[in-house]
Amino acid sequence: MHDIFEALLTDSFQRPHQYLRISLTDACNLRCFYCMPDEDSHCTPHHQLMQTNEILSLAKTFVGLGVNKIRLTGGEPLVRKEFPEILKALSELPVQLTLTSNGVFLDKYLDLLKQSGVRSINISLDTLEREKFILLTKRDNLDIVKANINKAIEYGFHVKVNMVVMRGINENELCDFAAWSVNMPLHIRFIEFMPFTGNQWHHDKVYTRDEILHTLAGKFDFIPLAKEPHDTAHKYFVKGAKGSFAIISTMSHPFCGDCNRLRLTADGKMRNCLFATHETDLLYALRSGQSIEPLIVENLKQKSQKLGGQFDEHFEKIQPETLQNRSMIAIGG
Ligand code: SAM
Ligand code: SF4
Repeated sequence: MHDIFEALLTDSFQRPHQYLRISLTDACNLRCFYCMPDEDSHCTPHHQLMQTNEILSLAKTFVGLGVNKIRLTGGEPLVRKEFPEILKALSELPVQLTLTSNGVFLDKYLDLLKQSGVRSINISLDTLEREKFILLTKRDNLDIVKANINKAIEYGFHVKVNMVVMRGINENELCDFAAWSVNMPLHIRFIEFMPFTGNQWHHDKVYTRDEILHTLAGKFDFIPLAKEPHDTAHKYFVKGAKGSFAIISTMSHPFCGDCNRLRLTADGKMRNCLFATHETDLLYALRSGQSIEPLIVENLKQKSQKLGGQFDEHFEKIQPETLQNRSMIAIGG
């Protein structure tokens, strides 16, 4: 039976897909410029969002087709007022459940996350400098995020810290973040800056994997770790470190060949790639009583081989205004 499922969620390039990222909201308490284009941008009205029972129903359909890992994301998933009930509902499914959060409200949910079987949490933080944090997010929350990262570690979660590296903004802090992973049991993920609608992306601002490695090699003695199947990150270990660091090189060294990710936006649209140009409205289909499985399978068949078919690793050629996409906050990271 399992083979049949795997075949259903295999795309035209023989890639099996078992990992679903569900966005719970396109609202957020922070205002990261690279993610949320405009402070005045409006978020989706509540009735157009997937409701708890609809999230569960769609998630069950994906699980029935072979999905075994679900990440809750957003926007900021912890600002969704039904977060506790959504988490509890999904925790009944036979999947590895994970979360990506900006960390600001995390302390309120650590017990619940633990009880719900979550083991690993990704927390986003791009700077360790207060003024820069305010510049990047338009909010003064650095201390609370750092405190909540520490609390999550104390609770025994596997904590990954996502840092979007942008030239001229925070590449001077790479060594500070790496040093943090030496002294603390946390796993830093340096992410290359990606282009989305209205996010001020320019190829000059991409600080590439090779540049990151070159910068870190000036200060640390590290070795690459073996890649696990479907890993998007190249992992490294600094001798004697309590944690590790990794690089997500979507722009300079895309990992599309091994991609196993599917996405559901907060308004219930299925996307087969961050850069996909088409979506399938599963929420509309669910509300109008249609069968969901064929729509999922059909959407996946249309997955492009690389980067939504919109560009390739020669990212310096990208004209961001010609890309067709939503903003990151509207897709779900
Ligand atoms: N609010 C949560 C958070 O910040 O972790 C979850 C949603 S956020 C969209 C998910 C991840 O996407 C974050 O780690 C964020 O840094 C990353 N992200 C957003 N825009 C990005 C961009 N333009 N390039 C690379 N990563 C980006
Ligand atoms: Fe909010 Fe996360 Fe986007 Fe920042 S990256 S604006 S915290 S959703």
